[in-house]
Amino acid sequence: MTPDVRDGARRAGRSSHVDRRPADCGAVPEAAWDRALRLIGQADEVALACHVTPDGDALGSMLAVGFVLRSMGKRVVASFGDRHFAVPRLLRFLPGQEMLVPPADFPAAPELMITFDASTFERLGLLRDNTARAREVIVLDHHPSNEGFGTLSLIDAKAAATAMLAEQLLYRLGGRLDRDIATCLYAGLVTDTGSFRYSSTTPAVHQMAARLVATGLHTDEIARELWDRSPFGYLKVLASALERVMLEDGLVWTYVTRIDRAAYGLPYAELEGIIDIVRRTDEAEVAVVLKEDDQGDWQVSTRSKGTVDVAAVCAALGGGGHHNAAGYTSHDTVEEAMAAFTRELRKVRRRSGGAS
Ligand code: AMP
Ligand code: MN
Ligand code: MN
Repeated sequence: MTPDVRDGARRAGRSSHVDRRPADCGAVPEAAWDRALRLIGQADEVALACHVTPDGDALGSMLAVGFVLRSMGKRVVASFGDRHFAVPRLLRFLPGQEMLVPPADFPAAPELMITFDASTFERLGLLRDNTARAREVIVLDHHPSNEGFGTLSLIDAKAAATAMLAEQLLYRLGGRLDRDIATCLYAGLVTDTGSFRYSSTTPAVHQMAARLVATGLHTDEIARELWDRSPFGYLKVLASALERVMLEDGLVWTYVTRIDRAAYGLPYAELEGIIDIVRRTDEAEVAVVLKEDDQGDWQVSTRSKGTVDVAAVCAALGGGGHHNAAGYTSHDTVEEAMAAFTRELRKVRRRSGGAS
């Protein structure tokens, strides 16, 4: 990104009336926040982990909190438990990447760990053993299904993004919201609200965005990094995915194989946006994209327009997520995976009174 200091100063100056205090919706008990502050206060080193194949919310929230902890004089390590440890290309613009270490270099038994946007213990991938051995684990998350696998839960199922909880923690720690931190938090907020389009976009979301933009961040450049650029091969792979898209009984679905990607050297992480094209189909209530990862497993992205709870469907298949955006991993063939998905989808539809 090319920082334009004058532009930043102009925006920041214009926004001097923005209230710096994040709204607290009260989902996390005060005692839990107090305990988190105490644990952090006592720790010399804090080990941060977000869910595997991180998205903007997972990585952005983690790096934002990392910046604050560093400014408090803590040693900070941050990671995610992918076998092939690499920050997805579209998140490489996020500041603070120097805090990241591969899972092999993560403390084996951290004194204090904080997890970000991970709805289950399994979502920590290779860092599961480190987490199991950590003395204290603070779970910062917004997934309704998260039952709290740590020693302290800071979970708000109504929050549009983990970034909202990260901002609250930052504020309570007395951290200063600067442009780097705001960039990380904004990436989380826009990723999880679909650029303020999803129903999770409350006034509190826009108020938070106002606080972040007031630091002078470049929303246009962030949007371009996240959504408006890709290698040429993406267009070709997208074309193959759209070529074989199917519409059956209110379900629109397609898949992308490793071979599709290999032809253009396209990394797996570049596939994230395909679901957003597929899910626009008027005739479908549910959209599915199966993406074959580098190990040959299918990472299944699912979306609903509201009547179907895809989190329930994915939970039955070993995954999870939110009512309208969920996922799971399948080791089957495409045909078997879709047969299993439609079977579970039928059950969920039946349970919700036959609504499409
Ligand atoms: P995605 O389609 O990858 O953007 O994922 C949508 C949502 O589904 C994410 O926010 C996660 O909460 C959830 N999710 C995706 N993959 C998995 C998985 N393998 N296990 C559990 N939850 C998942
Ligand atoms: Mn996430
Ligand atoms: Mn999230």
